[in-house]
Amino acid sequence: MEFETVIGLEVHVQLSTRSKMFCGCSADYAGASPNTHVCPVCLGLPGVLPTINEEAVRYTVMTALALNCSILEETKFDRKNYFYPDLMKGYQISQYDAPIGKKGRLEIGPAEAKKRVAITRVHLEEDVAKLLHRDGYSLVDVNRSGVPLMEIVSEPDIRSPEEARDYLVKLRSILQYLGVSTANMEEGSFRCDANISIRPVGSSELMGKVEVKNMNSFRAVYRALSYEEERQRKAFISGEKIAQETRGWLEEGITVLQRSKEYAHDYRYFPEPDLPPLALSAEYINGVRKSLPELPEARQKRFITDYGLSPYDSMVLTTDKAMADYFESCIDLDKSKPVPEYAKEVANWLLGEFSHNLASAEINIDNSPVAPDKLCRLISLIDEGKITMAVAKDVLAEMFSSGGDPYDIVQARGLLQISNSAELEEVIKEVLANNPQAVSDYQQGKPQAIKFLVGQVMKRTKGRANPNLAADLLSKKLEVK
Ligand SMILES: [Zn+2]
Repeated sequence: MEFETVIGLEVHVQLSTRSKMFCGCSADYAGASPNTHVCPVCLGLPGVLPTINEEAVRYTVMTALALNCSILEETKFDRKNYFYPDLMKGYQISQYDAPIGKKGRLEIGPAEAKKRVAITRVHLEEDVAKLLHRDGYSLVDVNRSGVPLMEIVSEPDIRSPEEARDYLVKLRSILQYLGVSTANMEEGSFRCDANISIRPVGSSELMGKVEVKNMNSFRAVYRALSYEEERQRKAFISGEKIAQETRGWLEEGITVLQRSKEYAHDYRYFPEPDLPPLALSAEYINGVRKSLPELPEARQKRFITDYGLSPYDSMVLTTDKAMADYFESCIDLDKSKPVPEYAKEVANWLLGEFSHNLASAEINIDNSPVAPDKLCRLISLIDEGKITMAVAKDVLAEMFSSGGDPYDIVQARGLLQISNSAELEEVIKEVLANNPQAVSDYQQGKPQAIKFLVGQVMKRTKGRANPNLAADLLSKKLEVK
């Protein structure tokens, strides 16, 4: 039997406001001592009154607009009641039936095969305290309590773990362009829960419904959903009933039962009596709409038209805002260079060796030790014929480890390209003498043997020989013989 997978995602995003959602405490608590960013409001003491953070509302409206939602002019906050030690008041202030944004969409996939994922809602609530479990007891850090939290819920339109990952990457990209959140999954400012079920193709009835939690990276989401998809298929085929339950992802590669549906919460939502309804005028909403910055899709199109980049290169460069900013800094630094050629050169470096160095050092481009002006100087050294591509790659690696200037590294290590025939002649003589097999192959009509000989010249000069010149000189010598 053929199955299809049905996934819906719930993403919680911490907003980068200065203060918390309902009090004046600083929301920037990362690295602070436990329980230092607290006041009677976010500690949930009796008798206090919350006030709404205007910036958090604006960030949520921005996000809802960027996700093509309609914005409710009459919205409100509600109490979501439940008991858990991380919830200071015994209820969370959230939004129930009147979320700020409703019925939006997010498009994923390449331009030629776009897929639309519907967004159910975007609403605003408050984060809870953090529990630190120790051996036999738990500690409570209230710093996170009351930090503005935006929830973005998708319709179950996602059909594979790959699509789920594309959706999250795109969503994070939009949030970073809007500047409303650091949207960092590892640091917990971007968290995802997934609902996943399977059904026979053609059927509209889902087999059970499983919610997966505890995924702390995009890779974890992908792995957890792939595991769960497979687990449910096997269970169905072997005649087991797939329950409605919550499962937790474990990094060793499995999901485990956390809670079955019989223990589902009844949150007893009711309108928050301590806050007035929130009215958002059409003028206010339009004002926010006009203030929206350029978003990833628009920037991708601009990169294609302004710089002549391919749709694929533009997409990869613009998905990460910091990468796109870096790229444009490089272009701005060397305005005299011909645009499409130079843009392609910079893009190739950024998407190739540069990304490779970032990945092996496990750093983001914002923290790159190689600033745009240094990468530009490295590219200039190649364009001017001073160093070869092979040398440039080594120099870039050294720039990453030492933070040095490419020109200084080239000087100090004597890496200038050998473009002088006399200097190469000696090396070529040796290479020909040491490789009689390749020489005779070439002379017996195998022209590709010259590639091997050029490779030997490059090896002996540690990558400094001008490869075109080496090939020229080699073929001349070989013709004469
Ligand atoms: Zn507070």
